[in-house]
Amino acid sequence: MVQRLRVEELVNVPLLDLKAQYRSIRTEIMAALESVCDEQAFILGARVADLEKDIQGYVGASHAVGVASGTDAILLALMACGVGPGDEVVTVPYTFFATAGSISRLGAKPVFVDIKPDTYNLDPALLESAVTPKTKAVMPVHLYGQCAEMEPILKTAAARKLPVIEDAAQAIGAARRGRQAGTLGQAGCFSFFPSKNLGGFGDGGMVTTNDQALADRVRMLRVHGSRVKYVHEVIGLNSRLDALQAAVLRVKLTHLEEWTKGRQRNAARYDSLFKDAGLLDRVTLPAVTAENRHVYNQYVVRVPQRDQLRTFLQEQGVGTEIYYPTPLHLQVCYKDLGYREGSFPQSERAAKETLALPIFAELTADQQAYVVETIKKFYAPR
Ligand SMILES: *Cc1c(COP(=O)(O)O)cnc(C)c1O
Repeated sequence: MVQRLRVEELVNVPLLDLKAQYRSIRTEIMAALESVCDEQAFILGARVADLEKDIQGYVGASHAVGVASGTDAILLALMACGVGPGDEVVTVPYTFFATAGSISRLGAKPVFVDIKPDTYNLDPALLESAVTPKTKAVMPVHLYGQCAEMEPILKTAAARKLPVIEDAAQAIGAARRGRQAGTLGQAGCFSFFPSKNLGGFGDGGMVTTNDQALADRVRMLRVHGSRVKYVHEVIGLNSRLDALQAAVLRVKLTHLEEWTKGRQRNAARYDSLFKDAGLLDRVTLPAVTAENRHVYNQYVVRVPQRDQLRTFLQEQGVGTEIYYPTPLHLQVCYKDLGYREGSFPQSERAAKETLALPIFAELTADQQAYVVETIKKFYAPR
């Protein structure tokens, strides 16, 4: 049972508390780091190969290739699919910048389609109209830890022989109809940024695929397009995962399921707290469709007076975040794409109305009760 707290007493609830997680695994982490230091082998090598095997097994993909970041995972997957100058890649404007930035970095053009208002993921009904003869790939994002509606996306893409690259940066462990994020399309791109569900002690990323040739290409591209030392077949980049990150991530991966279950438990608890507080006419809860396993990298609600609520929560000690305040089609750097205010109404509405609440595994029932009580106080001041 969740105790009813008095909102009068200030409780500190950070958006994310990485120190709480670290305290629970400190000894394991230190031992793993120490052995890397003893080995003095830092770039790729056996540690990274071990992590690649672990991720392969966890995600259920035939291949996994460690790279320097989630952004590079996207960049390298696109390069491996042959995306280059003049090409178009269809994606969403309501996502982290890296999704579209990686497309542009290759001289290709992001072509945006709007999201569905309930799941905040790509609306498959709009995909067909965005495909042109220049389209080279489709990149749905599994936002907040829930897979996009992949079946119609894959069908539209397959009809045009287009590869589907999953931006699964927020979705490790997520699944749809029993199949894991990162195995649904031709390639999956994961991020080990510290705030992701599987976070390193720095940057890191991984490309997963069931396509041997694609995996080989990513492997070559991440080391300057070279298979044999000092022999360069294509122009790649330096995007290697390092052994210290791999060592940390291997330890953390053994706890990932337990942390994911903690996030899911906390999400269910928020759901019932909001219901019991009579707030469902104010707070729109995350929509999880029946075929999806949501891993809640973020628990995002849609609320009226979002910015005022956020300020009030901040004053009461509750950390929140806005993912994302400006949709990509309205970013300064994308002026030339020719979109304007009104081009993607659902993305623009989501950017104005959504708020991420603390959801990390170690969050306590009391902290959650305090968050909901504080939100209730905001909407019904006495
Ligand atoms: C985090 C994230 C990325 C980029 O990952 P980095 O590891 O930070 O480069 C890409 N796409 C989405 C949706 C993300 O959340």
